[in-house]
Parts: sequence; C-alpha cells; structure tokens
Amino acid sequence: MTTAAPTAELPSDLSAHEAFAKLVAMRAEASHLQSVSALLAWDQETYMPDKAAEARAAQSGLMAGLVHRRSTDPRMGELLTICEGDGELNAEGSPTAADLRELRRDYEKATRLPESLVRELAEAGSAAQQAWKAARSADDFGAFRPHLEKMLDLSRTKAEALGVPDGGELYDALLDQYEPGARSAEIESIFNPLRERLSAFIQDIADNGTAPDTSMLDVNVPEAAQHAFGLEVLAAMGFDLEAGRLDTTTHPFCEGTAPGDTRLTTRYRESRFTDALYGTMHEGGHGLYEQGLPKTVGEAGMPSQDSVSLGIHESQSRLWENFVGRSEAFWTWAKPIADRHFGDALSGVSPAQLAAAVNTAEPSFIRVEADEGTYNLHVMLRFELERAMVRGDLKPADLPAAWNERFKELFGLDVPSDAKGCMQDVHWSFGLLGYFPTYTLGNLYAAQQWEALNRTMPDLNDQIARGEFSNLLGWLNNHIHVHGRRYPAGELNKMATGQELSADPLMKHLERRIKPAYGMG
Ligand code: ZN
Repeated sequence: MTTAAPTAELPSDLSAHEAFAKLVAMRAEASHLQSVSALLAWDQETYMPDKAAEARAAQSGLMAGLVHRRSTDPRMGELLTICEGDGELNAEGSPTAADLRELRRDYEKATRLPESLVRELAEAGSAAQQAWKAARSADDFGAFRPHLEKMLDLSRTKAEALGVPDGGELYDALLDQYEPGARSAEIESIFNPLRERLSAFIQDIADNGTAPDTSMLDVNVPEAAQHAFGLEVLAAMGFDLEAGRLDTTTHPFCEGTAPGDTRLTTRYRESRFTDALYGTMHEGGHGLYEQGLPKTVGEAGMPSQDSVSLGIHESQSRLWENFVGRSEAFWTWAKPIADRHFGDALSGVSPAQLAAAVNTAEPSFIRVEADEGTYNLHVMLRFELERAMVRGDLKPADLPAAWNERFKELFGLDVPSDAKGCMQDVHWSFGLLGYFPTYTLGNLYAAQQWEALNRTMPDLNDQIARGEFSNLLGWLNNHIHVHGRRYPAGELNKMATGQELSADPLMKHLERRIKPAYGMG
C-alpha cells in the first residue's frame, strides 16, 4: 500500500511545551483516523450490504495503513524525547508524565513490529479465520490445524519482537498487549486455587442442590419489545443515548468510536429474552466506561482519555451484567418494566424466581453460553493450553486431545466434537493469544469493586431495587473511568478497592448468589 509519507521536518528550536502540543495534535489526528476506521468496522457488522465486502476490505486496509504510519512516525519519537527531558512535563506523578509514559509505551510497541510482520499477521489471520469458520462447521480440525500452526508461529515471532517483559516469559509479551503489566506467573498463582475452589463449588451444587426452575425464561418475546425494554434499562443505568446507539449484530460488541459516540450492539433470540437483556447490559457496562472516560476532541486519543486494559474494561461490563443484572433487587425494579413491554409473558413470576433462574452453575461445552458459575473454568482451560502452545510444550496437532482430557477433568463431560471443543472460539484463528485471561481478570476485578461499592454504600441493594443507579455509576466514574491510563490496571483496581488482586470476593459472590438459587441456604 502506498500512502503519502509525512515529510515535514521538526523545527530545531522547538520548546518542550511546543513539542508536547505537537504530540497532542499528532495523536489526535491518528485518533480521528482510528475513529473513521472504527465506524467502518461498526457499519460492516451492522448495516453494510453484503456486496460491499470487497470495497470495505480495501477501505479498512487503507485506513489501517494510515493509522500505523501515523503511530510509527519518527517525529513522534523525537517529540517524546524532547518532552521526556523536560522537568515540568515529566515531573513524577504528574498527569503529563503519565501521558508521556504511555505514549512512549505505544510508540515503542508500534515501532518494534516490522511492517512486514504486521501485514503477514493480518493476511494469515484473515485466511485462518475463513478456514476456521469452514473447519468448525465441518468439525474438521485437520483443515484448521495448518492455520493454527501458522498463527502460533507468527504470534511467537511477534512476542519476540515486542520483547519479553522483565521477569516474564514469551507468553507475557502477548498478554501485555491486552493487560499491560500483567504476568502469567502471577495470573497462574490466582487462577490455580480459584480453579480448585470453583470445581469443588460446582461439584457441591451438583451433589446437594436442586436446580432452579428456568421454564419461565422459555417464553416468546418479540424482538421489538425486547429492544424497547433494553433501551429503558440502558437509560436507567445512565447510558447517554444521545451520545450512543444500540443496534443489532451477530457478534455483539461495544465500540467507543469517538467523544460523544459510543456504539453498542446486541442480538435477539425471541425464545430467550435474557440473551439480549444480559448482552445489552454487558455492552452497556463497556459503554458506560467509554462514556465516563474524560474524552475531548482536541486531545482525542491521549492515554489519559483511553481505557486502561481489557481486564478493567471487562470488569465494567460484568459488574452491570452479573452483579447488578442477576440480583433479585434488579428484578424487583425491572420486572414491572418488563411486564409493560412483554405483555403477560412473565405474569405470575416473582423477582425472586427470575433471579434464581438466571443464577445457575451447570457444566456445558460452549464458553459464550456458559453461566456465571462455570464461566471462569472455560477461560482457565484456554489460558493453560495457549500458554503451553506459546511455550512450545503443546503442539497444535495435540490440542484436541489435550483439550478433551482437561475438559473432562474440569467439567466431568466428554467433549462430543472439536467444533464444541477446541475450535469453538474465534480468538486463536485471529492470532489473539494472551487475550483469554483478561475475561477472568475482569470477573475478579468486578467482584472486588462490588465489595468496595457495598462497603461504601450499604443500601446499594435498595437503590437498585428502586432503579436508582446514579450513585453506583458515580462511584465507577470516580474510581475507575476518570483515570484513563494514568495508573496501571492492577494499581487502579487496588486504589479503587483497597485490595490486592484476590479470588475471595468472586467466590463469595458466587456462593451468595448461586447456592440460594439451588435451595442451599
Ligand atoms: Zn465484554
């Protein structure tokens, strides 16, 4: 691809403050290009006609090239060096020093990857994703295997180019892209005991509990009624619908495209209204984070206006979806609203019955359909296996056998096919290795934030039962959102909750929610 190279030279007598202003302007320009790119992607997932696919691929490729060119512009490196040498801009603990630290991090990461590797990853990933789709529907791992091998090879090359972080391993270089500062050894030390406790918990439920009645969820609710209900819930949560939208897609996501523009998507299943409701609340949680970031057009894309990590992002979505949305207090408020939209579909059902029905812990094969009780085991399985592949301890050819064996140990189920086993997720075909653990990190962070929230607002439950979410959102705004990338994710979570990363709050939450649903006290 050919794009006009930035040619302007920097003036030699630039002051540090002029250099900083220039940095801000360059970053904003890259950010606006990125916004356009994000809008193209959003359109592709929502309204784009099928026949536009080829043109859109060309447009997206061009935009990606322009953004990459801007992010690796050598002038960015020179400007950073000037600013870093300035005592005032780089004063320890100052907001500008945090911005400089993060800008440097982004610049180093972008420039460490040779353009040839970036292009090869994109092309191989696109081919691998096509192959994955076909192989998954044909349940033919053999057809996917060479693509997985290729993506693993390229990911290892990428990890080597990015560099192994201090005290870490090759996998950490990949993990660090999504959860800056996290190390797999540290994650393992949290995940291992959590896995034991979760397995014991699920076994206890299976042995001693009575599964709640979920039949009231099997009612038919038209898409339009579900959409109207979802919008009302979003508005009550505090999502600004004049600075965002809710649309329909196949794979729901949230895209904070620009200041004042946060796009949510969901999908509707008329025979199970909770799919769209919890999908909407999940993406809504992501959206509230995007709307809570201190974004401005003039300084668009500065780290201080950007989300800090995928784990923290996921903590916001999970907090609303699970901690709020699956509580009896939530249904106390939401049931009459659902009745207004759904007619008599839920007549005679109590908030307590609804809350029990959405708090199950039943082993199942598919991660994205898993309940809150079993979800994290799915994530841990993937973390173990992908880390072993990056280390070279597990060959892609041996993945199905390793998956099925470990799955049996964790869930007590025999995996019926690779389509329902190691080929179910899109991530590895894209080369997204190191991404999975951020899902469970998000759940852990969310549980810790939930405890902190309930400590500072002992009547939070009553507020939720009245549909008052403003204090809850205010706390998230002040403790998480406004800080952007100023503090590393782990430190931010510790500042907000007063606790080191721990699995205790999550286990307590699951016990408190799921055991009563199974009639266990
Ligand atoms: Zn999410």
